[in-house]
Formats: sequence, C-alpha cells, structure tokens
Amino acid sequence: MGDLFGMDDAARVAPGLRRGRGAVSNRVGRYERETRAPVDDGWEGDEDDAPPPLRTRLIPDASRSVIARNASPDLPFDRSINPYRGCEHGCVYCFARPTHAHLGMSPGLDFETRILVKRGAPRLLEGELRRRGYAVAPIAMGANTDPYQPAEREERVTRGILEVLQAHRHPLSIVTKGALVTRDLDIFGEMGRAGLAQVAVSLTSLDNRLSRSVEPRAASPQARLRAIAALSRAGVPVGVMLAPVIPAVTDHEIERLLEAAARAGAKWAGWIGLRLPAEVEGIFREWLEAEMPDRAARVMGRVAELHGGKVYDGAFGRRMTGQGVWSALLRRRVETARKRLGLASRPPELRRDLFRVPPRPGDQLDLF
Ligand code: SF4
Repeated sequence: MGDLFGMDDAARVAPGLRRGRGAVSNRVGRYERETRAPVDDGWEGDEDDAPPPLRTRLIPDASRSVIARNASPDLPFDRSINPYRGCEHGCVYCFARPTHAHLGMSPGLDFETRILVKRGAPRLLEGELRRRGYAVAPIAMGANTDPYQPAEREERVTRGILEVLQAHRHPLSIVTKGALVTRDLDIFGEMGRAGLAQVAVSLTSLDNRLSRSVEPRAASPQARLRAIAALSRAGVPVGVMLAPVIPAVTDHEIERLLEAAARAGAKWAGWIGLRLPAEVEGIFREWLEAEMPDRAARVMGRVAELHGGKVYDGAFGRRMTGQGVWSALLRRRVETARKRLGLASRPPELRRDLFRVPPRPGDQLDLF
C-alpha cells in the first residue's frame, strides 16, 4: 500500500519495535534488491510474545586506514576521522545515513542500530601521522557520524584517538550532539588552551518533545547547553552549530537557540539548512507523515524553496545553506543575532606548528 507520498510501506516497522529510534522504516538502500521487515504472521499471542524492541548491535570495522580526505570547497577541513559508521543518536534528518547503503544495510533503522566500530583507529592514526611527507592540518571529527554516540562510553575509540592527537600535538576540531564530550574535558582543556582544539556542539531545537522525536538518542537540548558551559569553563574554544535548521519546524527558534548557546559560553555560531540527499528524503518524509501529518506538505514546500525548487541540491556553495529568498532570510537572521550576541562566525584558527611526528617503535633505543 502506498502512503501520502506514494511510497511503498513494506519496510515500515511497528512503533513498539522502533521505540526510541528515529527512522520509521528499514527501507532498503540503493544497492539492495529486497526489503526486510518484521511481519505479523497471524498467530494470536499475548503481550509476552511480542518481539522485543530493536537492539543496537556493535560490529567490528576492519578498515585499514583511518584518515578520510576530501576536496570539498565548502568544507573548512580537508581530512576527518569517523570512529564509528552508523550513529545510534538516530537523527531522522542525518545526511550520513546513505553511507550505510554502501555497506549493504538500510539507511533507515539499520543506520541507528547496526554500528561499525573502528577499534583499531588510534593505532592506525599513529601510523598515518608517522608517514613520510605527512603535512599537518586540523583533523575534523563528527563531520559524518557522531564520535560521542552511546557506544563510545564503553568503546572509548574517540578517547584513544584524542590521546594520540594530544601526545603528538596535532590540531583537532570536533562537532557533536553527545554530552559525553565532557568526559574528555582533561584533553580538550589542555589542547584548547594550547590552540590545538576547538569543539562545536550541535543544537537543533530547545523543545524536548521535538528533540526526542527527531534526534531520539542524542543528548537533550539542556544537556548540550551544559556541555557548552563545561567546555567553556575548561578553557576550550567552543561554538554552536545550528545543524540543521528545519524550515517550518525549527527555524522560529534560531534567535533563542543562539541566545541560549551564547549564555552558556559559546564564542561562535554556524548553521546549515536541512538537506535531504538520496535515501534521507524518504526517511524524513516518513517521519513527517507520522509525526506532523498536517504540516508535512508545508514543510516539504519550504525545504524545496530553500534549495531552489528541489528538495536537495548537492552543488558546492549551495548545499549547506541553500539559495534564494528563504536562504537569504535565514542567513540575515543568524547574522543579526550573532552581532547582537557578540558571536563570531567561525572558530579560531588552530596551530599546526606544535606537531611532533610520532617516533617509530625502537626509536628510543637509538638514543643509547
Ligand atoms: S548525531 Fe549527527 S551523525 Fe549522529 S545521527 Fe545525528 S546528525 Fe547523524
């Protein structure tokens, strides 16, 4: 059966099974031929027979390199590290979702529940920093998936990467929606004060009900503001990213979000508009239909207005903040609020001159 948007709903998962998750379905990725979804087989059963809610599975990732490079002219970094593939925070709008299709998994619920963990990342990183000809430049974390998602509490892969960067005085920028970032205040404080680290906390809404629905396992808005305050007190250059601003859903909060972040100690602010590449469009539409059916058509109309008539325009220079009247209006509101609140538009430059190449095993022995 088709839905409001003419999509097949075979992949939908019952609300009880996806409790605490963002996506409504486990719709297939571009490369899969078959849909998998739990079905009612018609046998009566009591509540005890109901299948349990979806659990998160951690899967070892056997990647042999850890620094990913990019040449995008609209990104302020040329290299990044993602300790995890998939993200349990489960934000409905997450533009990293389509990467799970490349792994043969669904960008829907699989993205939130089947998380690949790069346990070898700290060791690989040390080797890559040691390579002859390595030219130092800030490494971005959180550009794709969140380094402080729930798995990090036990796995500590992000912590291991930070320890390598700290030991070799390598610059780092990080963006997160996880309050766990404050666990690593000791490292961020020292690196921040040395001009080697800056942190941005991503905020979408101050409305707890909306946040729980659209980004179900990310930290609450209040916990994110407390993280900004703790980072600021520790001497870490900290900013806020309104990422994303969702037209007709959260754009009325722009000024209040920036005021709350500035009060907490943020020193700069950035924003990106909602963008819905590949499978994310269908996932977002399904969520809209389930959560705010009366507003769904208006929201999608505004999203298209922001992107020059298309739901998604991936062109460099336009994909982050859109184009046209709507984009200009949002930009002006952010700019006006920034000026009023004394927020910069970008973080401070990070130092590169302090970098020390990791010694090779046995180098110490050569001293004697
Ligand atoms: S926290 Fe970031 S990476 Fe994780 S699901 Fe949300 S938007 Fe995606």
